[in-house]
Amino acid sequence: MTEKKELTNFSKEELEKEIESLGEKAFRVKQIWQWVYFRGVTDFMQMSNISLSLRQKLSEKYTITRPKVITEQVSIDKTHKWLLEFQDGERVEMVYIPEKDRGAVCISTQVGCAMGCKFCHTGSQKFTRNLTVSEIVGQFMVARDAYNEWPSPTNEIRYLSNIVVMGMGEPLNNLDNVVKALNIITDGDGIAISRRRVTMSTSGIAPRIVDAMEKTGVRLAVSLHAPNNSIRSQIMPINDKFKIEEVMKACSEYQRKDHSRYITFEYLMLKGLNDTEQHAKELISLLKSYKIRATFNLIPFNPWPGCNFEPSDKKTVEAFSKILDNAGFAAPIRVARGQDILAACGQLKSKHKKPN
Ligand code: SAH
Ligand code: SF4
Repeated sequence: MTEKKELTNFSKEELEKEIESLGEKAFRVKQIWQWVYFRGVTDFMQMSNISLSLRQKLSEKYTITRPKVITEQVSIDKTHKWLLEFQDGERVEMVYIPEKDRGAVCISTQVGCAMGCKFCHTGSQKFTRNLTVSEIVGQFMVARDAYNEWPSPTNEIRYLSNIVVMGMGEPLNNLDNVVKALNIITDGDGIAISRRRVTMSTSGIAPRIVDAMEKTGVRLAVSLHAPNNSIRSQIMPINDKFKIEEVMKACSEYQRKDHSRYITFEYLMLKGLNDTEQHAKELISLLKSYKIRATFNLIPFNPWPGCNFEPSDKKTVEAFSKILDNAGFAAPIRVARGQDILAACGQLKSKHKKPN
């Protein structure tokens, strides 16, 4: 018997071709799509408006698989962290950060990360592989299962309202799968998360930024973390390949095409390294020289076992934020969530991988 195909790996267009190849009409795709992505069904036999013979055919040829939940932890601040395992035993972590009546799910795009940023726990782990479309979408579906958010809420009240592509991995290094996955997640017939509620963060793979944003239509965040090349190269090896100027050019090109789009620059506050008044002023003139409209997100550094950096003092971060703010760049300070369960930014690491 040939191996079953994973249905959630297909884009809608690909699924149409699949279904047509079974001799079925394309409109069946909409029905199947709704069962899978609107109702969250994983068993073809439950698709009651589809004929028994087609349901049987589908069950023989396809599967709908969720990543397996290995462990779950809930922080005192209600941040929820899952350790998920895929079929080959590889694992990633996923986090849900609840607000009062909404919240963001932070999803991963790779197992490990090849970028090796010095401050990042994921980066200290070797790159293993890209996640498949199914594995990326499947993460969010696991969160939906946990919060019982099926069928997709049609009113605006959703606990899982936002997605941040800020977990493990560099999304622009797995662009084809990320694009397909985000197109599935934002499709109005299914999961239906608005593109404006999805933010994708990149470490700055400059030549792919414009293309990635055109193909996904989601919001862009760039991990800047330094006002100049000499500091950035010390902490982010990718900066030797794509310098700040190239990243800025890509950002301004992106805004030239879509004037309404603000960019968020993530800026990790590292004690004594990038956090002085002078650095803030340097940042302001950098953005002004490229005429980039942006807000900052000042991120307190979250330590992890074995790291060598220290977080900046609270007063230093506040002063930094004020300088940017006075220059017209909103610079809120991110509140670290889930610290007691190591669920904050940059702390994700799938250290429990099953031995072979
Ligand atoms: N690879 C992408 C997205 C995942 S990282 C990127 O780098 O943008 C998501 C965010 O967490 C990035 O801004 C990253 O710089 C930040 N981060 C990494 N390590 C961190 C740490 N130890 N403390 C706080 N933020 C961290
Ligand atoms: Fe990779 Fe992002 Fe971590 Fe850098 S910060 S190592 S790009 S996940």
